[in-house]
Amino acid sequence: KKLPVDTSDQSGPRTVEGACFSRVKPQPLIKPRFVAVSSDALSLIGLNTPDVLDDPLAPEYLGGCRVMPGSEPAAHCYCGHQFGSFAGQLGDGAACFLGEVKAPADQCPELLRENPSGRWEIQIKGSGQTPFSRQADGRKVLRSSIREFLCSEAVFALGVPTTRAGSLVTSDTMVIRDVYYSGNPRKERCSVVLRIAPTFIRFGSFEIFKAFDENTGRQGPSHGHDEIRGQMMDYVIETFYPEIQQNHTDRVERNVAFFREVMRRTARMVAQWQCVGFCHGVLNTDNMSILGLTLDYGPYGFMDRFDPEFICNASDNSGRYSYQAQPAVCRWNLARLAEALDPELPPSRAEAVLDEYLPLYNTFYLGNMRRKLGLLRKEEPEDEMLITELLQAMHNTGADFTNTFRCLSQIPCPTEGNDEAEEGVVKAATDLLLEQCASLGELKAANKPSMDPRELSMLLQLAQSNPSLYHMISNQSTVATQLEKLAKLKELQDVDEEEVKANHREDWTAWVTAYRKRLAVEIEGQSDTQALQEERVTVMDSTNPRYVLRNYIAQNAIEAAENGDFTEVQQVLKVLQKPFTTQLGLEQPRWLGPRRVDERGERD
Ligand code: AMP
Ligand code: MG
Ligand code: MG
Repeated sequence: KKLPVDTSDQSGPRTVEGACFSRVKPQPLIKPRFVAVSSDALSLIGLNTPDVLDDPLAPEYLGGCRVMPGSEPAAHCYCGHQFGSFAGQLGDGAACFLGEVKAPADQCPELLRENPSGRWEIQIKGSGQTPFSRQADGRKVLRSSIREFLCSEAVFALGVPTTRAGSLVTSDTMVIRDVYYSGNPRKERCSVVLRIAPTFIRFGSFEIFKAFDENTGRQGPSHGHDEIRGQMMDYVIETFYPEIQQNHTDRVERNVAFFREVMRRTARMVAQWQCVGFCHGVLNTDNMSILGLTLDYGPYGFMDRFDPEFICNASDNSGRYSYQAQPAVCRWNLARLAEALDPELPPSRAEAVLDEYLPLYNTFYLGNMRRKLGLLRKEEPEDEMLITELLQAMHNTGADFTNTFRCLSQIPCPTEGNDEAEEGVVKAATDLLLEQCASLGELKAANKPSMDPRELSMLLQLAQSNPSLYHMISNQSTVATQLEKLAKLKELQDVDEEEVKANHREDWTAWVTAYRKRLAVEIEGQSDTQALQEERVTVMDSTNPRYVLRNYIAQNAIEAAENGDFTEVQQVLKVLQKPFTTQLGLEQPRWLGPRRVDERGERD
């Protein structure tokens, strides 16, 4: 890296001035061994999985116990805004950069299209203390490593840009972690994930200059570390955005083009998350990749029953990072990046680029949703409403996000002039969609407020007697959600199962009817409706996954691995590497059902 490196070569927390990287020594593990490897990811760096699994030293190298020849391990120092506030320098106390690997000559061109650098940065996460570890140990435990490993590969297979995971090593080195849900400290196995990406540089990597300035007492963006900021921008643009570098002789114009491209990739990424029901959970600026990759898999979650206010991170009390908040939060993060790039990026130019974000996000989202619904030939103004109404019906009926979309390809295009048949199709489609919905009991469970209902009722009473207080608490998104849930729960007390079913049927019949009307527009003027129908099924079934990493699937794999059985992790990886292909023997609730208990995502 052509960036400032601190080479004093001591591990352990200490102050490092003016360097983006610090040389470190990864700390060895006792008895490192593989839990699983991803052959697809390992092939990016020219490793052949059978050879790796055959080599007794491989877990040592990929677990950070031995350093490969030519590797100069280092920790990358970065900053971030956490939950809306600038947190100063906070990373990387847990991951260690090992170096860059030249992409093999025969690497698939598609993989290199978004990695024009022609090489891959590799790092190990959980390899022990670095100068930036603060009070922590720099270790990661088996459960959080399994979550990172599986989801990196699952998200990649879904076609969403992401960092990759090559291997997962566990060991007999133990650390004590406070498991929040039990409150009991327990000993857990130190584990290391080998991560792979063109680069792990993130928004927070640029925010470090602000912290340096705070340390030296210098104020404002244009003071202090202009030179390193410029160097880091040059490095990122020249290496990962070479077209932008080549197309601009004017530095400011180059920088604006760079920021616009980061904005575009971020908008595309978050639109893709929304379309597969993925919630990142910790969208702090230090978890935002400068390449628009999904980065840092901690308390993420794939939604089961659709709920726009879904919060997967148990410590996200305000719902800042809820599912529906993600697009706006990513824009907020881009604004923080723009500030960190000032004065290389003039604020007025950045603002104009940020104004493009929401329309661009909507274009990506709508384009993706049209494919999910099989609307391929035409773009109609009412499509947005059709999508909104679909989500509304899913929310009302507690429908499973993944399964609902997946079954839409079974609803065929209408054939002209047969009203009787049409009625039958609407009924069959409605029945199919009703299978994805929640029963009365499940709806009640889904609307059970996580706050104490008595406390909540009291709060509500208090608020109703005081309008300004009401305004205040209903602006607090979790309280608002809780109140909504309580109201819905009260409604549900007065209905029986039959009534719920009737309501669900009504909702879905209305939506299916609207959908069929739109499909009729789709086939207008098409000579070969059969070919269109076949194309729809192909596109829909390669956009709507059959399998996603539901929380309990990860949890099962974690429990088995903690008991020494790694086959479940390996099996889950195998299934999720082909998420669009229906796999025989996997059509069971274990893979396909929505969650049965109302659990929230785990802490890192
Ligand atoms: P995260 O909230 O997962 O994005 O983590 C933010 C930062 O917290 C990381 O970059 C690390 O510097 C630090 N961190 C997280 N876990 C550990 C750990 N076990 N030991 C030391 N630092 C850690
Ligand atoms: Mg992080
Ligand atoms: Mg993390």
